[in-house]
Amino acid sequence: MSNDYPVIECDVLVVGGGSAGAMAAIRAKEMNPGQEVVVFEKGEIKYSGCIARGMDALNIVSIPGLTTPELYVESNRMACHGIMDEPANYRMAERSYELLKKLESWDVCFPTDEKGEYEVLQVHPKGRFCVTMKEPELKAILAKRVHDTGVRVVNRTMAARLLKDGDRVSGAVGLNVRTGEIMVCKAKSVILTAGGTARFGLPNNGYLYGVYDFPGNTGDGYCLAYRAGAELSGFEYTLIYYIIKDINAPLLYITLTRGANLLNAFDEHREKDHPSISSMLQEHNDGRGPMRIIMSHLPEEKIKEIEDILFTTERPVQERFFKGRGVDFRSGEIELWPTECFLCGGHGLTGVRVNENAETNIPGLYAAGDTSLVARGHLSGAFVYGEIAAESATNYSADIKSVELDTDQVAAFVKDRQKKLEQSGNAIPIEEFEYKVRRIINDYIRPPKAEYKLDRALWWMDRFREEFVDLVRIRDMHDLFKAYEVENIIQCATMSALASKERKESRWGPWHFRTDYPDRNDSDWLKHIVLTQGEAAEDVRISHKDIIRMTG
Ligand SMILES: Cc1cc2nc3c(=O)[nH]c(=O)nc-3n(C[C@H](O)[C@H](O)[C@H](O)COP(=O)(O)OP(=O)(O)OC[C@H]3O[C@@H](n4cnc5c(N)ncnc54)[C@H](O)[C@@H]3O)c2cc1C
Repeated sequence: MSNDYPVIECDVLVVGGGSAGAMAAIRAKEMNPGQEVVVFEKGEIKYSGCIARGMDALNIVSIPGLTTPELYVESNRMACHGIMDEPANYRMAERSYELLKKLESWDVCFPTDEKGEYEVLQVHPKGRFCVTMKEPELKAILAKRVHDTGVRVVNRTMAARLLKDGDRVSGAVGLNVRTGEIMVCKAKSVILTAGGTARFGLPNNGYLYGVYDFPGNTGDGYCLAYRAGAELSGFEYTLIYYIIKDINAPLLYITLTRGANLLNAFDEHREKDHPSISSMLQEHNDGRGPMRIIMSHLPEEKIKEIEDILFTTERPVQERFFKGRGVDFRSGEIELWPTECFLCGGHGLTGVRVNENAETNIPGLYAAGDTSLVARGHLSGAFVYGEIAAESATNYSADIKSVELDTDQVAAFVKDRQKKLEQSGNAIPIEEFEYKVRRIINDYIRPPKAEYKLDRALWWMDRFREEFVDLVRIRDMHDLFKAYEVENIIQCATMSALASKERKESRWGPWHFRTDYPDRNDSDWLKHIVLTQGEAAEDVRISHKDIIRMTG
């Protein structure tokens, strides 16, 4: 094969320049300014990732004197129904205050009162850990620091395959999402920070990209790790949120903590003690929804404060949305509705298995943020583990002299890409195909689940793999990268159906509710379900692993 693609080299390659990836890149340069750090980012690092979807707090900060990492572990263990490796969560909480201070030193705004105290909200089962943040420029601040520290950012480049040198990871193949050109990055270590699977179930609004989480995240991090031999867990935790109908944007913390009322369809009040998302979903599913946020009783200054956050820090498009709907917070109400189901390490429990050093089971491969499994770490987890992954990767790379590029692995990808480009005469546009895949995910994987439905999901995913080759049209380079995304969505759906089938109990409220096993069963299922790749991508191996508890 002719070497007609550029090959770049680095010490640390970061896949995904969102919250965790930006932080990892900055930290890697802080650790060793002389090392080469590259970021492959599918979009444009200045705007990409969850931060641009709305961010109003660092959800987990253990402020000395107010809470402790021990209390956080206890609280999160309750929220995760016991399915959580405690040391990784402890380490995140332990470093969370230091992280807040670091962000503050970068001019990220955490409002304080006249006594200099942060606004800290209780949104976890125990303890006040959620620190209000008011920083519409957060992603721009991070992106600037990434550039200023000398990191090489390769925008519009989707990491499509990891490369291996023997057992260890040795880089990645990138695909330009506009030109379809290939770029190979030889790397001594790779950090996966490509988010979760936001485009999983189809949202009620019917728009492929109208999802709650960042729509550029299609489970690529999970699939890259899986194909490289890494262990994954938590694919049965199929999340559904309960937020603003149609726009799928968040607002609960901001409004409820500032005195808004929450009413169900029978005008019964539910705002007391900030009800959990799962209890709101339950109420909705029981036919007492939709629930509504009402603020007409609030003074003008409170409403202005809420608007100020929602229309700037949160998601600026909300202002236009409410105007279009004719909703004024002073008189109207905001209807809430369940989102699509999605997979995510930060909000949920789905991810590449890592230890408290962000190491996977593959030498040289690290993961952080929503791609990794540090249960429900949110933005704090993404930032702290972005840093930890960078520290581990930097130390690992320092001991590696060089890595070999196996051109056969690149050639296999080049061939696959070429085969896809030959599908230009097929009948079905890639968007229609994605729509169908995600509609089937809604039908058979979205809870409530049952063995019959999960088997149907698996049957459909096998069929989609065949139809993909025979029917899907790939007209241009833009379709090409979407084709790789849809392949990953199908792979995630297969893994989710298998893990959901394996866990023969119900757990996590509505998120893994099985009508054929309606009860929680701690004696048999207080453990992780682990997925690894067998002979081929669709050959998913299932095993079980114990929960790691704190010792001492
Ligand atoms: C609407 C919303 C509101 C939230 N609010 C809060 C909050 O107030 N407080 C809080 O603590 N947490 C909040 N969270 C959670 C928090 O934002 C996330 O957990 C965190 O930002 C995840 O960071 P990440 O780096 O893992 O993912 P992201 O920031 O989404 O970054 C993933 C990046 O990877 C890129 N990418 C994807 N695939 C590839 C590929 N194959 N190759 C190259 N690049 C790729 C994407 O383009 C993206 O830039 C919120 C999340 C959402 C969705």
